[in-house]
Amino acid sequence: MKIKTRFAPSPTGNLHFGNVRTALFSWLFAKKNKGKFILRIEDTDVLRNNLKSVKNILEVMNWLGLNWDEKIYFQSKRFNFYKKIINLMLEKKIAYKCYCSEDILKNKRFYQILKKKKPKYDGTCRNLENNIFFNKKSFVIRFKNPKSGYVEFHDKIRGIIKFNNSELDDFIIQRRDGSPTYNFCVVADDLDMKITHVIRGEDHISNTPKQINIFCSLNANVPIYAHLPIILDKNKNKISKKNSNINIMKYFREGFLPEAILNYLVRLGWSHGNKEIFSISEMKNFFSLNKISKSSSIFNIKRLLYLNKYYINNIIDIKKIILLLKYYFKKENINIKNGPNIEKVFNIFKYRCSSLREIVISSNYLYDKFLNLKNILLINFSNKYILIIFKVSYYNFKDIDLWNSSKIWKKIVFMSDKNNFDLKNVIDILRVTFTGKFNTPSISKIIYLIGKKRILYNLKKCILFLKSSFI
Ligand code: GLU
Ligand code: ZN
Repeated sequence: MKIKTRFAPSPTGNLHFGNVRTALFSWLFAKKNKGKFILRIEDTDVLRNNLKSVKNILEVMNWLGLNWDEKIYFQSKRFNFYKKIINLMLEKKIAYKCYCSEDILKNKRFYQILKKKKPKYDGTCRNLENNIFFNKKSFVIRFKNPKSGYVEFHDKIRGIIKFNNSELDDFIIQRRDGSPTYNFCVVADDLDMKITHVIRGEDHISNTPKQINIFCSLNANVPIYAHLPIILDKNKNKISKKNSNINIMKYFREGFLPEAILNYLVRLGWSHGNKEIFSISEMKNFFSLNKISKSSSIFNIKRLLYLNKYYINNIIDIKKIILLLKYYFKKENINIKNGPNIEKVFNIFKYRCSSLREIVISSNYLYDKFLNLKNILLINFSNKYILIIFKVSYYNFKDIDLWNSSKIWKKIVFMSDKNNFDLKNVIDILRVTFTGKFNTPSISKIIYLIGKKRILYNLKKCILFLKSSFI
């Protein structure tokens, strides 16, 4: 059997982490089994769809590298196909036209709820001859759901799930305006696209018996189902399009790597021994549906940050990182032309940052052409003391021929010793002067990155500034 899975989002909002995990698991299952994975946009509900959401789906899938086989399917472009199947179902008498008016249906529903009964269609039109009301224009088409017996399926994650047909009713497969409904289109498409495994969120479990009944009425093979448990946010609320419309692309803008997002999501409800770090090819090799847990998982941003830091420090493709960093510098309006080489900056800052954007933001002072002289005011020593340290630094740094951080460090130690300065004071003063911050990578590395010419130039300016402040 050639395995085929699909990701079938409705474009009614931004994808959330739950959706993306569903996409990832479907994708991995197909890849692991050398099968196919398709992308199907379920946009039959014209009122709720929007183009922005379609754009978001494509952006997220492309960013994360969840590539699909075949063309993208849009259900809205398949209405002729659905019509054909519905006509066939009418012919086979497994579907029928229901002429009940909306008012009557509403009324009946109202009384059912009043009597504390589950509201269901009562089957008024189930056995009408098709042409009895042919003059009446307004009708919906309903599926003739079996009245007795039960539907049972073996969910790959939750085991046997059983529904009595008496709990279901003859649900609508074509609306009054002629458009087909979700439960019908899913079956028509899963059948037409030869989907073997339906991997989706557990909020769809209640739809599954309806869908299986349609499959059976068409004498078709029923796919295998795997319903994934939900993801909760840190307050233990279900992550859904309604209550967290976070755009995953926000994580791109914040400087997360797709490797980190995927690694984070793959471990959300799935495990492989104690292994935590998975490269994409390892995920593809090890993934299996039977290792998915039944219980819900909680979204944990700290863990995601940890993984992002891990990948920033372990990614092999430095060229890709440099390109990304250039993008983030540009986004922050930092001109990198006159500053230090980005790869060098990256190699020094990567140990302390959890995202690429953080690297850019925390290293921005390296690209300021001119020192902000007000930094000096942040230093908690007398101006006289600072001035001496600047002067001594100037002559000592000027002396360094081979400009590297170990030579710079030796020089700082040497000059502090020789002049009886407290080494820590010197470091603090230089740090604040050149960065405006109290916490940065080691001062010798910072001085190295800024470069000899700019360091000397700026020290000179600082000296003049301080001298003028004495007058
Ligand atoms: N379109 C549905 C959704 O976005 C998914 C349908 C399915 O996977 O069967 O929730
Ligand atoms: Zn009816």
